[in-house]
Order: sequence, then structure tokens, then C-alpha cells
Amino acid sequence: MTSPTYAPGVEAYMRRGEQMTAAEAAQRATMRAKKFDTIAVHGLYNMEAALANQGSIIEPGYLSTSQHFENSDHMEAALAYLMPSWTYARIANPTQHYLEETLALLEGYGYAGEVSATVAASGMAAIFMATNPFLMNDGTAGSNDHGPSRPNIVVSAKCYGGTFMLFSQRYAVERGIEVRWVRDPLDVTEWANQIDGNTRLLFGEMPSNPGLAVFDIAALAELAHGHGLPLIVDSTVATPALLRPLEHGADIVVQSLSKTMGSSGMAIAGAIIARHNLPSRVGPDELRANFALYVKLLPLRDHGPGLSPFSSLMILNDLRTLRSKIDHMSRSSEQVAAFLAQHPNVEAAHYPGLPAQAGHAVAQRYLWLADGADDYGKPVNRYGHLMAFTVKGGNLAARRVFDRFQMIWRATDLGRIKSVATIPAISTHQQQGESGRQLAQVPGNLIRLNVGAEHPADIIADLDQALAA
Ligand SMILES: *Cc1c(COP(=O)(O)O)cnc(C)c1O
Repeated sequence: MTSPTYAPGVEAYMRRGEQMTAAEAAQRATMRAKKFDTIAVHGLYNMEAALANQGSIIEPGYLSTSQHFENSDHMEAALAYLMPSWTYARIANPTQHYLEETLALLEGYGYAGEVSATVAASGMAAIFMATNPFLMNDGTAGSNDHGPSRPNIVVSAKCYGGTFMLFSQRYAVERGIEVRWVRDPLDVTEWANQIDGNTRLLFGEMPSNPGLAVFDIAALAELAHGHGLPLIVDSTVATPALLRPLEHGADIVVQSLSKTMGSSGMAIAGAIIARHNLPSRVGPDELRANFALYVKLLPLRDHGPGLSPFSSLMILNDLRTLRSKIDHMSRSSEQVAAFLAQHPNVEAAHYPGLPAQAGHAVAQRYLWLADGADDYGKPVNRYGHLMAFTVKGGNLAARRVFDRFQMIWRATDLGRIKSVATIPAISTHQQQGESGRQLAQVPGNLIRLNVGAEHPADIIADLDQALAA
């Protein structure tokens, strides 16, 4: 193999690129020393960047599809990834970049190592892009099938319906990848027993949607790393304001930014946030060295699920106040969950903060408000704003309660600043069928409730009148 040769003028752009990279690294180091809220408000966008953007104090929304180059040398350097540039908005974009840098700083908050982020068009796109690279043919099988070394993935069954469908249909049925479901994600032995020489990754949702199941991230990370495997954690329900899986040993975090991170509900978006130098049994060195960047520059470019710059701006705006919103909504949720848990028409309430919840001790170990001690004099547990409850009297009784809500919106949505509820068995978890719902433990009388930022007394009043009959 001969290394590519570039025109002589390209060299100067490589030098310029090195300066740009160094300046950004310095700004990253400056921001890593700041508190969570400061990072959320500013990200990497500083006064120097503002002065290069007409003085705009808010990150500009660059809606242009493509970048104009100074000359052919500049173009060649950019397209060969020899200098930071954005070229074409499917691959990169300045507004997207500000969001990625903010996300990497927030998920890396409290973690000593290097972290990078890549945004995608949805949470599902992020989950696909975070898992698919590990399913590549490793060269030991026939050219078109996975032959004797059929790869498998070990996955918590308590996961989002879309994730269940991606793994069970797109991967298992369409591509012959073996999906080994873990029924009780709290049981580390169940995970361990499913791993073999063909396992490519471990994947879990913490806490899970809609059942709020949890698992011990540090124990699973140790298990995964002992086998040279990456641990991927979907922590959409927690957000980095409550949980940062990377500091507990996870390798890749996936986020649906459409949810609490984008609580206004004006954009569908997702993200992959990964630590550098992660383990993998397959793939090139670049995949291990900086997984998020590898995905952005190669597979995401080729598969095409880039995030729109406009949506990037929407999410950036919501992120600035993430911590205080989550704190407020979590405190309201504790009241709402306590109300539901004691209601005579409620069979069971599921909320990680309830002492009776399976895994409450693990939730207590992992879910803390970032910088909570600065507000409350000591670290405080916060459990987020998602909960679920089963209604006594079966599926029809649950539907009647649901239909009586007067303020709580009926929608297949969560993470909202407005309270919203759904019946997962007929919405988010409808397609996976009865057996799939049994595996994920999603009964037909389960109502999932996202507690918004309204006054908790008004939310409880709406639940009270709906449950009364
Ligand atoms: C909604 C959701 C997803 C999928 O995100 P989209 O942005 O809707 O594609 C993934 N994981 C969890 C936990 C979710 O709640």
C-alpha cells in the first residue's frame, strides 16, 4: 500500500488545521474545569468564536448544506479529513459541532479520560450507529454470511420498543445476528452466562423505558472488559444531569436527545458519546481509538443519518437549563410516585426512587443530581421524571383512567416539560407482540407517566380525578 500523496499546497492547510485543533483542545480544557451548569450554558462556544460570528452570543444556526473552500488545496485537505472542516452537512456542520462538544463535556463531567460525541438524526439512528460497527464480518466467515462465527449481542430485554425491534427484527431476523436477551438486568450472572467467543457487545438501558429497571454499570463494565467487549448504555431516561455511565466504566453512551435533553419537544435527535480507547474484538484501530469520531467520519457518512443543524440548535437551547429542570421535575416526581404508590386503584407504581422498587438500592448508588451538594449542602439522589403504574381491574380499567386525563397529554412521548402519558402496550411496545411484551414485562394495564414542570399539586389533582371512578 502506498500512502496517498497530496498537492504541495495542502501542507499549509494541514498546519492551519493543527492550530485549529490545538485552540479547540485548549478551550475544551478550560471548560472541563467548569461546573455542569456552566458547561451546559456555554459548551465550547466562547467570545473568540462569537467575534468570528458577527458577535452573536448564541451559537449561530448554520443552515447551509455546504462549505465554500478557498482553493483546491483547501478542498483536498478538508475532504481527506486532514484539517477540521465541515464540507457537507451530512458529514458535519458547525452548529452540530457545538452540540457535539457540549454533549461530550456533559457526559464526560467527572470522568478523567477523553470523550467524544457524534449526533445523529434520532435516538434510534444513534443506537444503530453505536451497535452496527461491532457487527461487521470479522473475516473468519464466508463472504456473505456470518457462517460458523455467527456474532451475538447480549442485551437487556427491558428496553425501549424501537430498540427491541431493531435488535429482534433488523439484526436477528434480517441479518442472522443472534440476540441474547437478559431478562433480569440486575443479575450479573445472567449476563455472564450469555457471553461467548462470538459475542460482540453488551447493551443495557438504565433506567429502562417504561419499566424503570436498573443494573449495576460498574459490575457489567468489569464483566465486559474481562472479555474484551464494549458496554453500551442507553441513559436517555437519566440524562447526564443524573447519571454519567462513562465515569462508572461504560464505553459508549447513547442518548435520545428527543426526550429530556430536548424537553421542549421541538426536535428528534440522538447522540453517541464514547470514551477513547475502548475494547472491541473486531474492527480497525481507529474504531477503538475514538469510536464517536470513527462513526462520524465513516459509517455515519455512508449510512446518512446526520442531524439537521436546526434540530441541533433546538437541543442546544434545551440543554442549557437541563440540570435545574431535572431537579425540579424529579422532586415533583417523588411526590407523584408516592401518591400513586398509595392509591387504592393502583396495583403497583414503578419509580426508581420508591423504596419498594426492585433495584432501588442500585438506583440510589447511581442516580445523583450533578453538583447537588452546591444546592443542598450535600449530594442528593434524584430519580428523574419518568414513572409507570398498573391500574387495578385490567387493561380496560387502565384505558378508562387514561381517557379521563384532562391536563396530562395522551401521546407516545416522554422527557417533556409538559406532563404526558401513554399506554406502552398499544403504542411504543405494540409492534413487539404479546410474547415480546412478556419478555420486556410490559403488561396491558401499564400507564407510563412523564411528569412535567407543572406544579405537582396540579398533576396529582389530574391523576386523582382520573383514578377516582
Ligand atoms: C425514545 C427512546 C429511544 C429512541 O429515540 P428516538 O429519538 O425516538 O429515535 C431510545 N431509547 C430510549 C430509552 C427512548 O426512550
